[in-house]
Amino acid sequence: MNPDFYGCSPVDLSTWVEDAGLPAFRAKQLFTYLHSQQPERFAEVTVLPKALREQWDAAFRLAPGTEVERQESRDGTVKSLLEFADGKRAECVSIPTASRHTICVSSQVGCAVGCTFCASGLRGVERDLQAGEIMWQVLHHHRRRPVTHIVFMGSGEPLFNYEAVLRAIRLLGDPAGMGLSRRRITVSTSGVAERIRQLGDDEPQVTLALSLHAADNATRSQLVPLNRRWNVDHLIEALQDYATKVGRRMTFEYVLLADANMSPQHAQDLGRLARRFGAHINLIPFNPVIQTPHQRPSWDEVEDFAAAVAAAGGHATIRGQRGADIDAACGQLALKHADG
Ligand code: SAH
Ligand code: SF4
Repeated sequence: MNPDFYGCSPVDLSTWVEDAGLPAFRAKQLFTYLHSQQPERFAEVTVLPKALREQWDAAFRLAPGTEVERQESRDGTVKSLLEFADGKRAECVSIPTASRHTICVSSQVGCAVGCTFCASGLRGVERDLQAGEIMWQVLHHHRRRPVTHIVFMGSGEPLFNYEAVLRAIRLLGDPAGMGLSRRRITVSTSGVAERIRQLGDDEPQVTLALSLHAADNATRSQLVPLNRRWNVDHLIEALQDYATKVGRRMTFEYVLLADANMSPQHAQDLGRLARRFGAHINLIPFNPVIQTPHQRPSWDEVEDFAAAVAAAGGHATIRGQRGADIDAACGQLALKHADG
């Protein structure tokens, strides 16, 4: 199997470099070159001696993926479809603002969770992405403008691909590479209780976003099938353990579905739970996915819900929609390729 070079740390690369008879310092130099120049082939890696460069170019693939489609939104958002060596595809989205360049990355091809409102879970999970495949989504856009923030909000459940996600977080933070602060990385999860605890131990600086969507079990089990395994009570216990270890404010994500989770009672349950954890709530009006049964609420309904959440003590903002004209908004990834 081709080595996952973009998923290697400087220490991992040192084995390669030393086996090739080069001094150990070359490993860090190679790592820095990969992360700053994003070469696609070893032939471009001018920090390696020419003979080795040619030998490795003939033997190995360097970039784990190629961009096979690119769509640019009127608001500057760019969605890229990457194809990996085995032909599997995943999307990543670049979201520029005046002061930030955020990349929304996928952690798996497809998703096993199957939330009723999401395009990514329509066909189940096909496979986990490797750390290098996650890194390439970021580096691929880093060329255009330096990346400042990462959100694991593309396709897949990041905590079901925990090892590779953790490795990618550490590679992103490596000072010999991008040196991205953990505080600028957000991991969004549909609620894998055990792994939430583990993330708190392994990387307490990373921001946790819990995709809540309903604070009561009856509603949540309908929308997020994972709730039947780890229900709201389990999640609350995991969040309590997490909060005692981690001093960071967490986020609750809440997709607003006109027909499912927007009653006054839902707003009150959400506001109370968020207040208990000091969590910030992101209200996300449903981005239409035609293969799902859901309806987008009217603006008045969204505002009324936000007001009811605030009245119950919740601190909420309504998330603006970026890239909607190219189906790059949350949950719309993989829409065009669901049959591909
Ligand atoms: N699997 C992880 C991360 C990827 S989904 C998770 O569920 O958290 C990232 C976010 O997009 C989640 O909050 C998810 O609920 C939201 N989302 C999914 N489908 C959506 C849709 N159709 N409209 C709006 N948000 C959606
Ligand atoms: Fe998977 Fe997240 Fe989509 Fe649910 S919302 S199906 S967990 S990607």
